Amino acid sequence: MIRCTFAHVDLGALESNFRAIEAFLAARTPAGRRPPAIVAVVKANAYGHGAGPVALALERAGATMLACADIEEGIALREAGVQVPILVFGALSVSDLDGLFEYGLTPTCSTPGAGKALQAAAQRHRQVLEYHLKIDTGLNRLGFRHDNLDRTLPELLAAPNLRCAAVYTHFATADDLAHPLFDLQLERFASARATLASRGVVPATVHAANSAALLRDPATWFDAVRPGLLLYGLAPAALSGVLAVRPALSLRSRVVAVKNIRQGESVGYGARYVADAPRRIATVPAGYADGLDTRLGGRGEVLVNGRRVPIVGAVSMDMLAIDASSGPVYAGDEVVFLGEQGGDRITVAEMASWIGSIPYEVLCRLGSRIERRYNRP
Ligand SMILES: *Cc1c(COP(=O)(O)O)cnc(C)c1O
Repeated sequence: MIRCTFAHVDLGALESNFRAIEAFLAARTPAGRRPPAIVAVVKANAYGHGAGPVALALERAGATMLACADIEEGIALREAGVQVPILVFGALSVSDLDGLFEYGLTPTCSTPGAGKALQAAAQRHRQVLEYHLKIDTGLNRLGFRHDNLDRTLPELLAAPNLRCAAVYTHFATADDLAHPLFDLQLERFASARATLASRGVVPATVHAANSAALLRDPATWFDAVRPGLLLYGLAPAALSGVLAVRPALSLRSRVVAVKNIRQGESVGYGARYVADAPRRIATVPAGYADGLDTRLGGRGEVLVNGRRVPIVGAVSMDMLAIDASSGPVYAGDEVVFLGEQGGDRITVAEMASWIGSIPYEVLCRLGSRIERRYNRP
């Protein structure tokens, strides 16, 4: 062990979350029907958990497909040894597409421009390329608009070197149970599929559900579901009671220095924290370069020696200070930013709420210099 700040990733938790989702889907699928397949989303370095080891664990657990953001991420997954199909979510209209062929990746076609580029590349490689067609039903980000497919699809469907293997959409408000856009998107998706069918295209696979949609409505399941967050052991707040999952990641460090300061003395850049009484301040070697948001200063807490103690003063690039006056603290003591210690737990959702962010961002921002350590169950 060289640096003492590290993220511990429990691959056993990932696998058990995968199985919990599998069981949840199976239990609610009508008899005689096949439960949806699970496309495991591992974009953004597997939500900060480390793409290679996480992808291989999910493949072992039974994921039939993995999904990532762009071709570069797909190549990294192949180089880590992933064998199952890999879906690339991102827009490909202005990318170098050769990696799709060299590494056997499945592209999303989400604009007419991407369709042209994919056809040209497939022709150059003398291959018939299977793609997933993305329909925009209301997120207004990527995808063919649901309401003018008659105009935008014919050229794509006529492309001689492309084959539509699947059609999908993505929800904007699945984690907001009251928002009307969710049902509207489902309706629009149905009518888009009817338009496709009227043109003789009935893709073998239909998918739509992210974690929140998967939890809230079996009508979104179709042939496959695309959970990300849930696999990592986090559930959207509004749906947190639906399925028990276990957080896979904890973030830990150690106290490297302890000093006593006097009343009226300050701590850190800008002297933002001023002690109202004699205080015992401990320094922890993790800062905003490690993804710990500057807004944690004066707002966040850590666990040390089984106690919750506040982060005080400005978070620096490589370290931060905690006020450990409430009990004994020594250099070498374990500090927990995320995860459990002594029966208490700091969740990703809690850290997100301290800094006015969302769990996704907290995980994805964990710095590249933080070592990820993996265990098997
Ligand atoms: C990120 C993503 C998902 C997974 O979303 P979660 O909310 O993490 O389950 C699914 N589909 C697409 C298109 C995505 O970009």
